[in-house]
Amino acid sequence: MTHFEPSRATVHIIGAGLAGSEAAWQVAGRGVRVILHEMRPHRMTEAHRTSGLAELVCSNSFRSDDASNNAVGLLHAEMRRLESLIMRCADTHQVPAGGALAVDRDGFSAAVTEALEDHPLIEIDRAEIDGLPPADWSNVIVATGPLTSAPLAAAIRALTDESALAFFDAIAPIVHRDSIDMSKAWFQSRYDKAGPGGSGADYINCPLTETQYHAFVDALLEGEKVDFKDWETDTPYFNGCLPIEVMAERGRETLRYGPMKPVGLTNPHDPTTKPYAVVQLRQDNKLGTLYNIVGFQTKLKHSAQTRIFRTIPGLENAEFARLGGLHRNTFLNSPKLLDNRLRLRAEPRLRFAGQMTGCEGYVESAAIGLIAGLYAAADARTHTLEVPPQTTALGALLGHITGGHIETIDAGPRSFQPMNINFGLFPPLANPPNKAPDGTRLRGNEKAIAKKQVICARALSDLDRWIADALHPAVAA
Ligand SMILES: Cc1cc2nc3c(=O)[nH]c(=O)nc-3n(C[C@H](O)[C@H](O)[C@H](O)COP(=O)(O)OP(=O)(O)OC[C@H]3O[C@@H](n4cnc5c(N)ncnc54)[C@H](O)[C@@H]3O)c2cc1C
Repeated sequence: MTHFEPSRATVHIIGAGLAGSEAAWQVAGRGVRVILHEMRPHRMTEAHRTSGLAELVCSNSFRSDDASNNAVGLLHAEMRRLESLIMRCADTHQVPAGGALAVDRDGFSAAVTEALEDHPLIEIDRAEIDGLPPADWSNVIVATGPLTSAPLAAAIRALTDESALAFFDAIAPIVHRDSIDMSKAWFQSRYDKAGPGGSGADYINCPLTETQYHAFVDALLEGEKVDFKDWETDTPYFNGCLPIEVMAERGRETLRYGPMKPVGLTNPHDPTTKPYAVVQLRQDNKLGTLYNIVGFQTKLKHSAQTRIFRTIPGLENAEFARLGGLHRNTFLNSPKLLDNRLRLRAEPRLRFAGQMTGCEGYVESAAIGLIAGLYAAADARTHTLEVPPQTTALGALLGHITGGHIETIDAGPRSFQPMNINFGLFPPLANPPNKAPDGTRLRGNEKAIAKKQVICARALSDLDRWIADALHPAVAA
């Protein structure tokens, strides 16, 4: 019979974003009571717009869904095996996006909210936790995200005795589909790739000539930017989410090799002329009425955004459902502050999850919420749950957060940087493949592809073994 530790039998989860929502689902799924504290709608963040749980603040994409060749696709697959609520709701509310898993943001958030509200072991408390959690909460998950409210952030900073780290994150504009001029733009996925949920024609493409591209870059460089506040001046950007005007500053051609690259696309309105650059828009809601401009995070002032983006062919009359913006992102120096089960060394009743721990992205945040939930449930049941193998995507990500940067800690608190899941976080293969199944020798890129596929297969089989050997005995309901 399972023994519950009375003082730990209720898990308090602060923040019902991607991580907190997934953590609550996992804890309750193991028969343990949860109180989920969410400050919205009473107090909003700079980026959230709704009262829905697991609101996606910017892009609607969960990125590649390819579990054989792509690290984030592999993480999707592992989370599905662990009955992730976030993945279940994403799959149900998928919209076409080539090889990516993109979702209708409102349908997705409504489904997560409903599942958590309906769960008999979950109570949702709509209130801000404005300081350290009360002392009698002995099993707590803090999942308040990059936009953690100021009083809680200050309390954590005081407890950890070091400044929280910060960098900038930017969001991209969203355009009403019916305001796009389709006599200039066209539907096509790069290389006509259909992917799991797509048709091969999922993106709207807007072509630019060389002259138009250079005029656009000039406008970006000259466009009025939002002023930096004092605390922002020495905060670095996260390289995966650079504002377009910052990319333009790095070189005139940078955008043409980044979000505006023209490859794999043919303009049906003028098939013989290769566009010099292309702006892509991706479907943002199930109805297909909204499209976000891919990779166009920006800190240009709203008036400058409207003016400059309307110079893009096809977007001359664009109506914007939301303009881009820029926000601070706060995260812990986790390798130093957290143990390998995500507990704060200085106060182990507090466990952290989501982007605050220094992972990056919706999927990664939910994945860390998932594992934090499993640990909290195991604590409540006085069991010990072994960490997932480092050969799995979940274990690799956890390893990066809690130990991956151990050797750089001495270099100073800024050595730890948030990271998306990637193959570089996995232990190398002892015997990397050099032959195809038919015995022919693999060359160059073929070897790299085969290596990723072996890493993915190894991850899924190791995860299955961990679920059977460690997870079920430790936290079975
Ligand atoms: C502006 C911006 C744009 C981003 N764009 C993308 C993107 O396009 N793609 C991507 O993959 N990732 C993006 N990210 C990164 C990140 O993956 C997401 O922010 C993700 O939502 C993080 O998940 P989380 O659960 O850690 O935090 P969140 O999803 O932000 O959830 C935290 C929750 O805690 C609540 N909360 C905060 N403080 C308190 C408190 N004191 N008491 C109670 N509740 C509180 C908040 O209201 C929120 O609901 C972006 C981040 C930011 C800031």
